[in-house]
Amino acid sequence: MRVAVLGAGVAGIATAYYLREAGHEVTVVDRQPAPALETSYANAGHVCPSYATPWAAPGMRWKSAKWSMQAWLGIETALKFTPRLDARQWNWLKRFLGECDARRYAINKARMGRIARYSHAQLKALRERLAIDYEQTTVGNLQVFRDQAGVDNAQLGAKVLAQAGVPHRLMSPDDCIVFDPALASARGLIAGGLLMPADETGNCQLFTSKLAQSLGENGVAFRYSTTISGLQSAGDSMSVALADGSLAADAYVLSCAHASVALARPLGLDVPIYPVKGYAVTVPIIDDAKAPKSGIVDEALKVAVTRMGNKIRAAGTAEIGARDVSVSPADCATIVKSLSELFGAIDLRGAEYWAGMRPMTPDGAPLVGATRYRNLFLATGGGSNGWTTACGIGRVTADVVSGKSPEIDISDLGLSRFG
Ligand SMILES: Cc1cc2nc3c(=O)[nH]c(=O)nc-3n(C[C@H](O)[C@H](O)[C@H](O)COP(=O)(O)OP(=O)(O)OC[C@H]3O[C@@H](n4cnc5c(N)ncnc54)[C@H](O)[C@@H]3O)c2cc1C
Repeated sequence: MRVAVLGAGVAGIATAYYLREAGHEVTVVDRQPAPALETSYANAGHVCPSYATPWAAPGMRWKSAKWSMQAWLGIETALKFTPRLDARQWNWLKRFLGECDARRYAINKARMGRIARYSHAQLKALRERLAIDYEQTTVGNLQVFRDQAGVDNAQLGAKVLAQAGVPHRLMSPDDCIVFDPALASARGLIAGGLLMPADETGNCQLFTSKLAQSLGENGVAFRYSTTISGLQSAGDSMSVALADGSLAADAYVLSCAHASVALARPLGLDVPIYPVKGYAVTVPIIDDAKAPKSGIVDEALKVAVTRMGNKIRAAGTAEIGARDVSVSPADCATIVKSLSELFGAIDLRGAEYWAGMRPMTPDGAPLVGATRYRNLFLATGGGSNGWTTACGIGRVTADVVSGKSPEIDISDLGLSRFG
């Protein structure tokens, strides 16, 4: 079958890989000149199935109100909200807030965990098969807490992890420093930690580029610098218009992150993805003793820090209502604060500042599988976990396109769950 994958981010490229593996003739289309130049470019790099958790959680209504108020007062916070005269924003927020009760949280966490764990197994198998090196670390990721309330929450969380059979270890401040000696200068700041030994980190852009290169060598066609201008319906099927021509295929996989929303609208499909902006700072390692050895999450400031080869990447902040991916050092103040408080003074000469839009669904789980158009499939909506879930998204989507039953239940990961 001829299959066109629309979008060359990590989700699109992973889907192309599994489609090619299933024997299809695959073409990937992207408006950028190379893969992974949008959201997959400089994310925090955590591959964290153990930690995969919806943002829509009990207590989030109150926390969002508090953070928004702090942001208005000019206090650095993890979340910023700019209200817009935009029905899409309010509809998404209404759906998001509707997912914040304990019952919905448990359902959403379970389905996110299912695809994230499956994805992790796929990633490990793929890495072994293709011998790809993408600056990965595999010694586990550590959440650090700055106060007793954080430690108490972690103890509650640890019970849930134990019930689900997820490997984890509660850590004292000393244990945290033994795990990662680079935290030594933050000894007085750390109240405790939670280690997820099965979780990993890796450079998403490097992974995606190397995978795309290998696909190119294995017969996958790439049409870069090519904008998809529209999707048109014709009965129960659809077609794709490109800015510079058309695209003929038997099946199409839409993997354009938050741009999928506008593309799918003329088909009458309401794709509930909202772009939630985040920032990253990447700095060269000058003193190895002050560089983390894997992934650290600073829970108080919601900043994820990662060792990426000879660099450190730190990412965080959630902005609802941002219009573009502009970035200035001032936007990254919370991230830099976290970095320097945990690892000592950071030399920001040579720092790269970046912003990207997380393609967030209200319930946090991705959107995969069939649509009501027989030739259109979705592989998108990875949100804050889109690197963690990419190989799973790709594998199940390729199975559905091929007419095979995926190895995990995806009945609650499709568009139909939003009515
Ligand atoms: C600050 C930050 C930190 C993050 N940290 C993590 C993390 O630690 N772990 C994790 O698992 N996830 C993380 N994420 C989330 C993760 O980066 C995303 O979910 C993931 O990269 C999304 O991949 P994607 O392929 O769906 O989207 P993208 O990478 O954005 O790919 C979509 C592609 O579609 C193309 N496209 C769009 N519209 C068109 C069009 N009209 N025509 C042609 N092409 C088009 C774009 O050019 C783009 O290449 C983070 C995100 C941010 C912003």
